[in-house]
Amino acid sequence: MCKEATINPSIKNAPPTRQQKIDLLNARVQTITKKAIQEAKESGEPLALEFVHAQKQMTTLTAGFPVYQLRSALVVYIYAFFSTCLIIRGALMIHPLTTAMCVLTMIVGYDFYSGILHVVFDHPSNISIPILGQPCLEFQWHHAIPFDIVQKDFVDVCGDLNVAVMILTPIYCAMLDLNNGVAMVIGGLKLWMAYFGQFSHKSAHVTYGSTWAKWLQNHGLMISTKEHKAHHKPPHDVDFCLIGVCNPIIDALRTLTNNNRIWVSLFCIWSVFDLVGYVKVVDALAQFLQIS
Ligand SMILES: [Zn+2]
Ligand SMILES: [Zn+2]
Repeated sequence: MCKEATINPSIKNAPPTRQQKIDLLNARVQTITKKAIQEAKESGEPLALEFVHAQKQMTTLTAGFPVYQLRSALVVYIYAFFSTCLIIRGALMIHPLTTAMCVLTMIVGYDFYSGILHVVFDHPSNISIPILGQPCLEFQWHHAIPFDIVQKDFVDVCGDLNVAVMILTPIYCAMLDLNNGVAMVIGGLKLWMAYFGQFSHKSAHVTYGSTWAKWLQNHGLMISTKEHKAHHKPPHDVDFCLIGVCNPIIDALRTLTNNNRIWVSLFCIWSVFDLVGYVKVVDALAQFLQIS
């Protein structure tokens, strides 16, 4: 485990740096883990997996400490820049109504995907899956430290997606026809919706958010604090979506099956094939409306 996080007294009044905020969160992980170990000893109950892995060193394949990490802000800005270029280039090739259909499809599609992902990442045993384990550990520690998403700088919240974007980008490039305007807009929006989902989640944890964040929450375009609080109540088994419009669908699917293998399979399939499906839907609709 790392050293206890401290802030240099000579710069006590300076706002904490991004690294110091991350260090303080990791120090909190250590404190909570120590308490959990003590409680497990006294009760004789087995220690939950998030505490077991918080005592191990993280590796490329296996989940462990540090749970919170400083992300590359530069990579976030590069991803955002190229996605914006892709959206603009694609939108210039298609009808404005088709662009609007892409946006609508991605709002619903992203929210549904965020629900599947969250169900999978919250499952305790998935911490043991290679590569996938670390984000599962981070998600499960968010239940123990709900203010982590507010304490971190937003660029680090978006940066939590850096590795996933790196893995998925070549897959999408291979599967999508990047001369197709709809594919360009949908491909670019995938990243922006993911960042918007992070913003929606963060806003749900802010007591006094901005006026426009409140407006989006009040109009059902971001998850409300009240709705997201329902997810934070143990056993964390409702309201998984990060925007919230697909929560009834995900909750209904969970009444059909809670089988973890089925949910992990659904997550893998949806991660790879979602955009291809969305492009086909929007292309078909545009053709039907004769606006392509
Ligand atoms: Zn959760
Ligand atoms: Zn939360």
